[in-house]
Amino acid sequence: MSADRLSNLSKGEKPESLVLCPLVSAAAPEQELLCIFGTGDFGRSLGQRLLQSGYRVVYGSRRPHSCGPLPQGAQATSHEAAAQSAGLVLVCIHREHYDFLETLAPQLKGKVLVDVSNNLKKNLYPESNAEYLQSLIPGAHVVKAFNTLSAWALQNGPSDANRQVYLCGNDAKAKQAVAEMSTKLGFTVLDKGSLSAARELEDFPLQLFPEWRLPLRVAVGLLAFFFFYLLIRDVIYAYVDKGKDISFRIMVSLANKVFPIVSLIMLSLCYLPGVIAAFLQLYRGTKYRRFPDWLDRWMLCRKQLGLVALGLAFLHVLYTLIIPIRYYVRFRISESTISQIKENRTSVFDTTTAWRADSYYSMGILGFGLYLLLGITSLPSVSNALSWREFSFIQSKLGYLTVFFCTFHTYLYGWDRFLKSYSYKWYTPPGYLLSLVVPSVLIVLKLLLLLPCVDRSLIRIRQGWERNDPEVASEKALLT
Ligand code: NAP
Repeated sequence: MSADRLSNLSKGEKPESLVLCPLVSAAAPEQELLCIFGTGDFGRSLGQRLLQSGYRVVYGSRRPHSCGPLPQGAQATSHEAAAQSAGLVLVCIHREHYDFLETLAPQLKGKVLVDVSNNLKKNLYPESNAEYLQSLIPGAHVVKAFNTLSAWALQNGPSDANRQVYLCGNDAKAKQAVAEMSTKLGFTVLDKGSLSAARELEDFPLQLFPEWRLPLRVAVGLLAFFFFYLLIRDVIYAYVDKGKDISFRIMVSLANKVFPIVSLIMLSLCYLPGVIAAFLQLYRGTKYRRFPDWLDRWMLCRKQLGLVALGLAFLHVLYTLIIPIRYYVRFRISESTISQIKENRTSVFDTTTAWRADSYYSMGILGFGLYLLLGITSLPSVSNALSWREFSFIQSKLGYLTVFFCTFHTYLYGWDRFLKSYSYKWYTPPGYLLSLVVPSVLIVLKLLLLLPCVDRSLIRIRQGWERNDPEVASEKALLT
């Protein structure tokens, strides 16, 4: 339904007993009149935005004479009169109060009813609010829209970042009318299909970081595990075995071990599902069979896994930067210098240690630099500016290089310590050794996939070739 058609519905029909709010300006005759039920927060914000976009607005209210200040230029009247005056009615009322709308069925017949409502909880009612509204007024064309916007976002005008309007409904013309109006208000429209999609739209505002849940749970689980593991190995062991209280190390030393360990594991977990998927495709000889659900879910949260890993790597960098100003470190350095002077000792410069330390820092810096690049290119504004090839080059090729640098950084940190028996306090391996398991497995599996014969098979499978293709099998049978 075009704007013209809608205005035809309202042309010439004057709502009875219109109450004009102060400073009403004479509405231009060609301006389309829209009706809003409810003079609450959302109704007012929407009305203001409609008026700014060149519409005329009439409110349907229980108390048209005492509904408080309305947006400049808007009018208020009874629900019946307002419904009669416009072809499109925006219902800005909570679902709990919809019952009275049934009495307005004659006035609303054939009109477009926009349901903007949300609920406080998911699955509160057997049907969606929009479907309930449709059942109350079967003669109207109900469209679900605007519910994912807030009153605040509407007031901020078209410059606000929240520009998407999702809509759904059973009547194509009604949806088109709402889409045209939304576009005029400065929104981009995404049609989600029939009114049965309304429940999904109503659940949108109730979502709480759905795609972050799994990565955050993994992060919290790993952080808790490694914190207690290292607390026992480092702090409690020193107290029990040597009677030394080094609990102050919890704040910096322990944190600076836990964060990089979990960061490296999570970065590897970000790339591991891709490798598992590749092996699954090679094993099955086809790309046309669905991956198991757990792998699908894992793949879908790779970006979040990577971003959490980046956050932890960043904390590791910050903790590392403060090492030289720590009281404990300054004390140990001055103590060893003084004892060297007292004992007239000199230490010999060890080139191997210098190489090892420099390589260790260098790998860490390079790894973190690439880590940042991966994080930046995962931002929608940046990734949208990249071609698919550029994006996959950075996220895949440079991503594996990041895993390699960070893993090598950790190997250099451990050096030959894994050979020394003192590293296995209470027969437990050091934390850094545990953190190397997943990335090492990942690198080995990735190297296997890069073998020319494996790589060739994988490329063929990804181009659509199937090992058990019935046509190929029948051709083979004919040849033999
Ligand atoms: P609100 O401030 O409480 O306003 C609701 C309006 O409904 C009232 O001002 C009143 O208008 C009318 N009303 C109240 N009780 C009624 C009854 N028994 N019978 C008939 N009408 C009644 O709520 P709101 O924040 O504007 O929200 C309105 C709708 O928009 C809700 O469905 C909400 O889920 C949805 N929504 C709101 C936001 C938001 O940011 N606020 C965002 C998305 C969606 P009159 O006094 O003029 O009759």
